[in-house]
Amino acid sequence: MTIHDNIQTIGERIRAAEQRFGRERGSVSLLAVSKKHPATNIREALAAGQGLFGENYVQEMVEKSAELADANIEWHFIGPIQSNKTRLIAATARWVHSVDSFKVAKRLSEQKPADAPALNICLQVNISGETSKSGVQVRELPALAAEVAALPGVRLRGLMAIPAPEHDFARQRAVFAQVRECQEALIAQGFTLDTLSMGMTDDMEAAIAEGATIVRIGTAIFGVRE
Ligand SMILES: *Cc1c(COP(=O)(O)O)cnc(C)c1O
Repeated sequence: MTIHDNIQTIGERIRAAEQRFGRERGSVSLLAVSKKHPATNIREALAAGQGLFGENYVQEMVEKSAELADANIEWHFIGPIQSNKTRLIAATARWVHSVDSFKVAKRLSEQKPADAPALNICLQVNISGETSKSGVQVRELPALAAEVAALPGVRLRGLMAIPAPEHDFARQRAVFAQVRECQEALIAQGFTLDTLSMGMTDDMEAAIAEGATIVRIGTAIFGVRE
């Protein structure tokens, strides 16, 4: 299978899941996670019509964006954020999915180039049982959302989650349902949110069933990483 074929297949899987779970056709976007894969692979995905690319490492995103400066790519930063790297992120990415502190959000707000459109932000939420230390705790979400929503130059779009790997479909769904419920609670409190960034190669369908609007797919497009 070529990268081109993989993009086609993932697109079909997304459309099938939208239909199966009563989601509007086209309501789920594909973010191609290109971390640890070279710019030539990104060019292949671009040729297949893919325009959104996600990276986890700041230096890697900056290098690839320079290498691919001629291409029409929307970069999404999805990795852990060190506050001394926020300037590079704000200069390169249109979206940041992994914001989990006010300090980082404030720096992104201050450092976004004045001529660039508002930087789209998702708050990464740490749902129970997660092994990773990143992500804001559920009980701290409303306060952080209020602080971030008030910042100039950034636009709070929704939530992102990286649940612990889980093979059982019902259990995958149960975790994503918790993220959706967090989002619904924030909307009930008056926040305008339209994005749920959740679902990877192995749990994409469960995420779509629970309302994902962006799925972040690496392996199923580019193959296994080193
Ligand atoms: C690597 C990564 C992905 C893609 O994972 P796959 O299982 O390869 O599809 C998605 N989201 C984040 C945050 C990642 O780090």
